[in-house]
Formats: sequence, structure tokens, C-alpha cells
Amino acid sequence: MSTANEPTVRVMALHALAYCERLFYLEEVEEIRVADAAIWAGRRLHQELDEPEDIITLTLEDETLGIRGRLDAIRRRDGSLYPVEHKRGRCKKDPNKQPQAWDSDRLQALAYAMLLESHTGQAVVEARVRYHASNATVRIPVDEQGRSDVTAAVLRARQLSSTTDRPPVTSDERKCIRCSLAPVCLPEESRLADTVERPADQRPAPLRLYPPDHERRSLHVVSHRARVGRSSDSLSVTDPDKKVERFSCREVSDIVLHGHAQITTQALRLCAKEGIPVHWVTTSGAYLGAFTGQVNAVQRRIRQYRGLAGDDFAIQLSRRLIVAKIELQLRHLLRSSRKNGGVRDTIASDLDNMRQAIKGAAGSTERSQLMGHEGTAARAYFRALAGLVNPDAGAEMVPSGRSRRPPLDRFNALLSFGYSLLYRDVVSAVMRVGLEPAFGMLHQPHSAAYPLALDIMELFRVPIVDMAVLGAVNRRMFHPAQHFTVTGHQVWLSDQGRRRFISVYERRKQEEHRHPAIGYTLSYARMIELEVRLLEKEWSGEPGLFAQLRIR
Ligand code: SF4
Repeated sequence: MSTANEPTVRVMALHALAYCERLFYLEEVEEIRVADAAIWAGRRLHQELDEPEDIITLTLEDETLGIRGRLDAIRRRDGSLYPVEHKRGRCKKDPNKQPQAWDSDRLQALAYAMLLESHTGQAVVEARVRYHASNATVRIPVDEQGRSDVTAAVLRARQLSSTTDRPPVTSDERKCIRCSLAPVCLPEESRLADTVERPADQRPAPLRLYPPDHERRSLHVVSHRARVGRSSDSLSVTDPDKKVERFSCREVSDIVLHGHAQITTQALRLCAKEGIPVHWVTTSGAYLGAFTGQVNAVQRRIRQYRGLAGDDFAIQLSRRLIVAKIELQLRHLLRSSRKNGGVRDTIASDLDNMRQAIKGAAGSTERSQLMGHEGTAARAYFRALAGLVNPDAGAEMVPSGRSRRPPLDRFNALLSFGYSLLYRDVVSAVMRVGLEPAFGMLHQPHSAAYPLALDIMELFRVPIVDMAVLGAVNRRMFHPAQHFTVTGHQVWLSDQGRRRFISVYERRKQEEHRHPAIGYTLSYARMIELEVRLLEKEWSGEPGLFAQLRIR
């Protein structure tokens, strides 16, 4: 096997390949890695293994074999060397209940044995895997079969590395339960996509492998005099009027600098290392840009360009998106007017217009037709929304249609600020998933805003922003004078108003909702990323689940 001109394959990558080809592809080709609790536990185990008789951790590479790797331990018995691979977990058992190595561990141990042999020039006839949870050591003969299994695995790894197509999910569902990449791979959702044509009550209930909530939170820095700095491996926020606040990187999903808040180079470098995006927004909430660490997403972007280049496919996705948006708006109105027959009667014709718009959008074959139906529905929706504001909230809080730039009333100032926060969250999710935000399906690149982020936002305007704004206004959380600044005809949130709305918005993101297509409950913060991942599946051979989000 002559491989001198090709990069060597990591032995750990062969381990992943033997476990699941898709896992290999995600980790090695798309370079997506998630350090979960099991991986941290494995690292700790290796740090604890200071047995004096071992020659610990030797890093070896052989271009002819085409592999490189770091051996856990090497031992000598009767003059012969053999590698020992340590595993925290349990071993496999044969039908006679005797310990056996898992296929992926066997392949890994064999590859290390071959590396050791080529490095020392001495024959290595055996490799061992030590399973600490079973207190068992499995001996693996380094025979012809074992060598040819390693060679075949290297060839397969190279084949997969040269394609842009992600392999399908494994047929062995049990492997996914222990897989650290399940939240990125979404294997259950891929299996569900195969059954999407069936009625909802006949689809299998998916196993929950996607976390319900973000473990990390957005860090908003609102004060103009605040500065984000670095303090060892943590982030600190210094504000002359307050105590210094410290945040571990594991708590922070992204940083949002509002207005003139600053960040030091040291903090930016830490964010790059930890994969924490930093966003800049103006005082009025307009998005200025982001700094993100390096994301190697070439294959994902090639698949996205290929998928969305076809107009028919882009229109089909856009149709689903607009139908979903109008249905969400309609359901919001129906739900909010459920207990008020008088209001329901007043908005009846707007509701009818929206129902007509849904039918029209569902039958549209052109982008311009879709935008037309979307516009008709939006006018009816915002007109009707005014009727849902509690009279006790004050006449100043009632909107007059929708005014964007600039907002002309307080309700619209809240909506505009909320949409800009949402836009930033969607951009973050798109970047995290590794898609190109500038290449969308419905919105065209007319402004500085990313079209794909504007597309995906359509699914979340109602559940995350509109419902939060209406709820907060009706609970009288905003004071017409204290929380707003009026300049001529324009209305903006005051400093205090911005802070209050950010906390309303962030709380709403943490609220949980049952996703109707997936069948499980998760926070809206998580749902944004989930929808981006479901969108990616649309052009990756697992279509049907994107834009099914609805409210009850
Ligand atoms: S979640 Fe399952 S299909 Fe996906 S990479 Fe892991 S083992 Fe493979």
C-alpha cells in the first residue's frame, strides 16, 4: 500500500470509522468535534495512568502504513513489546460470556501494534485492550486478518475523505445513544425523515438525543462604559459603575456588544480559542457584524450551494417557510383572541385574509407570488395585533400597523429591537452549523443582512418575539415614558427599556415548546439551531422536517 503522498490517517479516526462511517466523516472530514462527558472522562483516565512499568504515550507516524497515533502505553513481556489501549468502559462478551474487544477498539489496538512494529523494527504479535469497568484485559493477535482489516480501513477512510456526501446514519440505533456527535448528526430525525409521508400518529416516536436546552447563555453587554476582558481562562466584564463580573467560557454561548461596549484583544483571542462568537449591534439593535473562530465547513457549504442552486428546490423550501410563517401568525391571533369573542369578531376579516394568503402561498410557484401573499398576510396580521393589546396597557402602547425603520410607535420599537436580537441568534446558529449565511432561498441579497438568516428568522418571529412583546405589553412591563425615547416621529427603546427587553427576550428563548414534527420538547434557543440543522438535511438526502414548527 503506497501512501507516501497522502496525509496519514489518525488511528483514533479509524476507531471512529469502525464505530460508524458517519461519525468518522463528521469528525475527520467536516472537523466537527464535541467534547462530551465521556470524552472528558476518557482524558482523565489517560492522565491517571502513571503505571511505572509502562512506557507511556508515544506518538508515532508511518507514511507507508498511512497512519499516525498516540499509544496509551507500551509493555514488554518475554522480550516482546506490545501496546496496551486503556478504555474506561465495559468490554463486549462472546456467547460464552468471555471478554472480547469491541470492533472499533480491536482495529485501534491493531493499528497501534503495526505502528509500534514499524517504529522498533521488532515483530509485534499481540495488542491488548484493558477495560477498566469490566476489570478485564482482552488480547488481540496481530495476524494477517488483523493487518488486512487495518489496511482496508485506511483505504475506506481515504475514499470517504474525498467525497462531499455525508454517509447515512448507522442502522444500529444503539450506537447513537452513546455517540458524542448525536446532537449534530440528529440520527433520530434522519430516521424520522424516512417516515415523513405517513400521518403524524403513525410515525415512530423518536428517541431524544438532542439536548433540551443550551448549557450556555448569551452574554449581553449593554452599558457604553463596559469592557469585556480576559481573566485567566474566564471572561470578565468591567463597568466603572458596577462590580467586576466573571464568566467561565463554558457558561457563555456568545457575546453581544451593544452600542459602544468594548472587548480586549486578549478576550477576543480567548473567544476564538473557545469558539465563542462576538457580535456588535448598535444602540437601536441594528446588527453590525460578528467575529467567529475558524469553522471548517467546506463540505457543508458545497452541499448547500449545490442544493439551493436549483430554483425549483429553493422555491419549494420558500413555500414551506411562508406557509409556516402565516400559519404561525394566524394561530397567534386565534390563540390570543380565544377568550374574547368581541375581539375575535373585530379581527374576523383579517383572519379570513390570512387564511386566503395561506392557500395562495401553498399554490405559489414564483418567489414574487410568495412575497405577495406574505405581504397581504402581514398587513392583516399587524392590523389585527393592535386589537389584542390590553386597553389597560395604555393607548401609547397600541401599534398602528407595522413600521420598521424607523419604528413609529412603542410597540413597533419593541418588535424591531426583538427582531434584531432574533436575527443575531439566527446568524449565530447558522454559523455554528457551518452554513453560508449569505446564500438563502427566499430572501435575495439586497441589503447587508444575510439572506439565509432572514429566511430562517421567519419561523421564529411569532413564537420568540411577537408573543413575548404582546405578553410583556399586556402585563404592563413597559412604561410609555420610562422605557422609550421619542425623537420627532421616531420611537426607540431607552437604555432601561433595552435592558428590560433583553431580559424578556432571553427568558422567552429558554421557554420550552413541543416541536410538532420531531415530537419532543426543547427550548426555543435550542429550536433555532435544530431548524438550521433540519434545513441542512433538506439537501443532504434526509428531507421533509424543516419548517414544520407551529404553535398550538
Ligand atoms: S449519532 Fe449515530 S449515526 Fe450519527 S455519527 Fe453518531 S453513531 Fe453515527
